[in-house]
Amino acid sequence: MIPRTSFNIRNNLWDMYEINEAAYKRFDSSKTAFILVGQADTGEIGPMNWLRKMSAKIFENIEKNTEGYSQSDYAFAVGSQAINFILGTYGDQNANKQFLKWDPLFVPKQLYNLPLQHDADKFTLMVKNAANFYGTDLVGITEIDEKWIYDRNIYKPFIFDDVEHPKETEKEFIIPVSVNKAIVMAVNMSRDFILKPPNLASQAATELGYSKMGFLAISLAEFIRALGYNAIPCMNDTALSIPLAINAGLGQLGRNGLLLTPEYGACLRICKVLTDMPLNTDKPIDYGQTEFCEQCLLCARACPADAISFGDRTFTGVCESNNPGVKKWYVNTEKCLRFWQHNGAACSNCIAACPFTMDRMSPNQCLECERCIAPKCTLQFITVERQKFGY
Ligand code: SF4
Ligand code: SF4
Repeated sequence: MIPRTSFNIRNNLWDMYEINEAAYKRFDSSKTAFILVGQADTGEIGPMNWLRKMSAKIFENIEKNTEGYSQSDYAFAVGSQAINFILGTYGDQNANKQFLKWDPLFVPKQLYNLPLQHDADKFTLMVKNAANFYGTDLVGITEIDEKWIYDRNIYKPFIFDDVEHPKETEKEFIIPVSVNKAIVMAVNMSRDFILKPPNLASQAATELGYSKMGFLAISLAEFIRALGYNAIPCMNDTALSIPLAINAGLGQLGRNGLLLTPEYGACLRICKVLTDMPLNTDKPIDYGQTEFCEQCLLCARACPADAISFGDRTFTGVCESNNPGVKKWYVNTEKCLRFWQHNGAACSNCIAACPFTMDRMSPNQCLECERCIAPKCTLQFITVERQKFGY
């Protein structure tokens, strides 16, 4: 593994993105594929409606005792998702719900109202130590750019205002303007399970990742509140995780639409805590992922839904769930979710196919495999895979 210190460090957050300011708007998370597909199926707007079709398929598979989709496989996935459901209802719509509450859960008021005084260096160390202790595999800190905060969810808008503590009113979610940092954590999923075909094993890995996300975000939020600062624990809710993770120096965006990191590829789930604690920020890294993805295409080949682009990056989305205005490879998330429903399990092919997930790659490789005769270069893996797929 090439050490992180050898990567290009970007001083300007915006070096990592090209944005068409006229086209970009904060994302309306009532437009996620989960909501839109569920709405198309049932006529109702809700976070879980898309699951109805998939559940029907799950029980059909169980009756047939299909390998990888049996009752015991399903039990494994159900166990993996239990903590996820207890902590915060699954999905993008769980802001300020259940244990993801924006107020202290168990922290005594006298501590929450008594901010400990330290400099940012010391707090940064404390927060990162705590995040590691609670079990994160990667952690970084970035300033919050409002661009990445959801415009709204299915219930109400997110706004920033000059208030002391985060709160929810009948009309809106209010984030204090003082809440200006995001601590982003990424938890590694079981590579062995992700590498299985798109069946209930890969779903179990995903579900366990969600459970760990909730555990991490809630634990770190309580830690920060006990030091006397505001903390908003988030899973997929409230803000876009991937751009915050990129800004916090965790990795880069891949063709598969996911965060890729040098250590774990895309075999990760991301959560974050928004806070007003004085903290130092990390810098984004550039280890050549974009250029690599331009050549690779393996995830696009491996996608059973034809949801991943084979083309160049664009500013334009390919389905209603995409948020246009950022130059990237847009994934047709609605096609993706339709495949999950048809399959009767979540799919992770685009993670499994990625050479970074499979630990067969190191960053900063040369992309000259067509001309190269080096016998041990792991990039030959791509050449072999391409021949297998015939492109
Ligand atoms: S999860 Fe599966 S269906 Fe969805 S984009 Fe990835 S490979 Fe395609
Ligand atoms: S499979 Fe290849 S193209 Fe897709 S995200 Fe991974 S490196 Fe990029």
